[in-house]
Amino acid sequence: MKTKIIFSEKCLGYGTWHIEGPQRIRIANEILRKKGYDYVEPSPASEEDLLKVHDPEYIWNLKKGLVEDVDTPAYDNIYEYARLSAGGAILAAKINGFSIMRPPGHHAGKNGAALGVHTRGFCYLNNVAIAVKSLNKTALILDVDGHHGNGTQEIFQDYAKVVYLSLHRFPHYPGTGIRSEGNCFNFPLPADCGEKKYLETLDQALNAIDGKTFEVVAVSVGFDTHSGDLASLGLTENSYLEIGKRIAAIEKPTFFVLEGGYMGEANGKDIDSFLKGYEENL
Ligand SMILES: [Zn+2]
Repeated sequence: MKTKIIFSEKCLGYGTWHIEGPQRIRIANEILRKKGYDYVEPSPASEEDLLKVHDPEYIWNLKKGLVEDVDTPAYDNIYEYARLSAGGAILAAKINGFSIMRPPGHHAGKNGAALGVHTRGFCYLNNVAIAVKSLNKTALILDVDGHHGNGTQEIFQDYAKVVYLSLHRFPHYPGTGIRSEGNCFNFPLPADCGEKKYLETLDQALNAIDGKTFEVVAVSVGFDTHSGDLASLGLTENSYLEIGKRIAAIEKPTFFVLEGGYMGEANGKDIDSFLKGYEENL
């Protein structure tokens, strides 16, 4: 069965001047529509869902527009945009879909910036964490964005039901994820390491944990590992096909939540390639 794309036009409504801007999703969306994917519209996450992950004080500040840092502006109504993106992740978890909603989430910790990092890296609510908590199942969170998901690690550090596994560029923003800690397995990679090194590391990472023991696999998918993007690891469209195959091989119910990826056309083609690899090997 073809994975459904979760999207609402509403997520294009803010931040035109920022690198995390609507164009990265608008163009990807156009490409995926042309490819014939089925679409579903999300509804906003409830406050109850958000509070499973974030501190009440942080949510209060976000509502009031009181959270701003040098990377992460306090746009008008950002709470509503973030809540809809979190709702996209929750829906993805329910239907094993792929949410291409923005803003992304994996740098957002319980109370905003996570693990001593000074910014929230374009993130407001931790979408994948909210979706995993809403499922309340044992989960493997596989984070293949080019940046370490410091927020996701902070939220699930020592949390018995979840294992977090991340491949990311280092040294690079946010500077965390240098080594594995408890249930959080980190695989730092040098800039532009290339597909061969990346896939070898991914195979090693997936062999180190037993994916079969989890009820669900949640994937934080970022395409900023694409050659020339913000956290380039020198990957190409084909690399994402190979990553998708490896995720299918875990043979567990799986859902996908978009994180980074700042080149719209590459995002669209990479998502299609990734899902081809995943679906052809289910
Ligand atoms: Zn990223």
